[in-house]
Amino acid sequence: GPDNISAKEKLELKDIFIAVKTTRKYHKTRLNLLFQTWISQAQGQTFIFTDWEDPELRHRAGDHMINTNCSAVHTRQALCCKMSVEYDKFLESGQKWFCHMDDDNYVNLRNLLHLLSAFSHSQDVYVGRPSLDHPIEAADHVRNDGSTTVKFWFATGGAGFCISRGLALKMSPWASLGSFISTAERIRLPDDCTIGYIIEGLLEVKLHHSPLFHSHLENLQRLRGEAVFKQVTLSYGGPENKHNVVSVEEMFNVQQDPTRFRSVHCLLYPDTAWCPTVTVK
Ligand code: UDP
Ligand code: MN
Repeated sequence: GPDNISAKEKLELKDIFIAVKTTRKYHKTRLNLLFQTWISQAQGQTFIFTDWEDPELRHRAGDHMINTNCSAVHTRQALCCKMSVEYDKFLESGQKWFCHMDDDNYVNLRNLLHLLSAFSHSQDVYVGRPSLDHPIEAADHVRNDGSTTVKFWFATGGAGFCISRGLALKMSPWASLGSFISTAERIRLPDDCTIGYIIEGLLEVKLHHSPLFHSHLENLQRLRGEAVFKQVTLSYGGPENKHNVVSVEEMFNVQQDPTRFRSVHCLLYPDTAWCPTVTVK
C-alpha cells in the first residue's frame, strides 16, 4: 500500500548511541587513545561510562562522561552495574541504536553506520560477535517443558555489540532501573551474557552473528590489508599479549603505535592534524 512507498529514512551517525565502558585506571591510557582517534569523529554520540569523577575527563567530555557510581573493580556486580546505567541512559536518549564498546575497541564509524543501515531500529535487532562457537547454557527457573536450563548465544562485550531501540524497549522488565543487576544475579553470569540471556533466552530474539566485530580474544594479526578497513570494531592485546594487534604496515611503527589504532585512524582520516602527511607517488 501507500505506506510502503515512503523511502526508508537514511540512518545517520547521530541516531546511534555509543557507550564506552571504562574505569579509573584506564582514563589516561586507553581512553585518551580513543579520544585522539575515533571518538574525535563521533563526539556527539559517544558517552563514557566510568567509576570515578575525573576532573580532566569531565572537562574534556562534559555531560558525555557518566559517572556510574559503580565500584571500580572487575567483578560481575560492578560490570553489570555499568551496563545497567548504559542501558538506562540509552533509553533516555531517544536514539535509534544502542552500541556498547569497551575502551580497547576502535570503532570504524562508517562501517558501523553501514551495518546498522541494513536493519530497522524499530525491529528486534541484536548484532555482534558470538564469543563462543556454541550457545551457553545457564541455570534458570523451571520452564514449561520441565527443563531448568536455558541455552542462548550472546555477543561478546569485548568486541562491541548493538541493539535496536525496538528491542531495547522490550528488554525493559529485565534491564531497566536496576533490574539488570537482579537478572544477572539470577543466572550468575557476566554483563554481556546477561544481555544475551534477556534477548535470546527470555525474549526469544536471535543474535545476528556478525564477523565484523573483534575482541582481543581472537588472533587479530590475521586481520591485514584491506580487511582491516572493512571491520566494524577492532581491538588489541594487552601488555601481556602485545603482539596481538591488527596488521597495518603504514603510518607509524609498532613502537610509536603499539595498538595500531593511530595508524588505522590516519589511514581512514588522513586530514587529522597529528597524522603524517601522505605524499602521493
Ligand atoms: N573495566 C571496568 N572495571 C574494571 C576493569 C575493567 O569497567 O575494574 C572495563 C575496561 O575499561 C574495559 C572492559 O571492562 O572496557 C574490559 O576490561 P579489560 O579489557 O581490561 O578485560 P578483558 O577484555 O580481558 O575482559
Ligand atoms: Mn579487553
